[in-house]
Amino acid sequence: EHGDISLKDIDQIAKSSFPLCMRHLFDKLKEDHHLKHGGRMQLGLFLKGVGLNLDDALAFWRAEFSKKVGLEKFEKEYAYNIRHNYGKEGKRTDYTPYSCHRIISSTPGAGDHHGCPYRHFSEENLRAALGRMGVNSRAMEDVIGKVRNRHYQLACTLTFEALHSMPCDAGINHPNQYFSDSRKILQ
Ligand code: SF4
Repeated sequence: EHGDISLKDIDQIAKSSFPLCMRHLFDKLKEDHHLKHGGRMQLGLFLKGVGLNLDDALAFWRAEFSKKVGLEKFEKEYAYNIRHNYGKEGKRTDYTPYSCHRIISSTPGAGDHHGCPYRHFSEENLRAALGRMGVNSRAMEDVIGKVRNRHYQLACTLTFEALHSMPCDAGINHPNQYFSDSRKILQ
């Protein structure tokens, strides 16, 4: 499972195979060189789940955060939590990546980028984000219809199907499932 993806491929794989919730966090991290705690947890555990090993995870977060807070502050304030997520610090709990249900139920505040975009974005922002992902206008209306009926995971499933031109009969219930189903098709 580990070593599944390597750092040099991560930008391209994020574009092709991350669900919108993780794509949004990834893009915001690259843009702001920072994410608040909720976002670091949601994206960090997802990346662990897709097989980014601890050393690569540290390098990934360090490359961005050091541009904003500097290397010293990164090592002092953030590296611990990354190791902690991998069970290398504290109680050595092995933290599990969040399910859709957990992400949809979260309550992101101002300045937070975690959560599920189908649930937490305005319709305008969601349309723009789906457009950037490459969802065509017909699929877009189907996705928005599901969102209006509060069927967020079905909206994500329709997005997956539109972007992969393949059915996803099981439906999307976990971001890491979205990722592995996508990789199976695209690899
Ligand atoms: Fe992420 Fe799940 Fe929401 Fe899709 S439905 S964007 S995988 S939380």
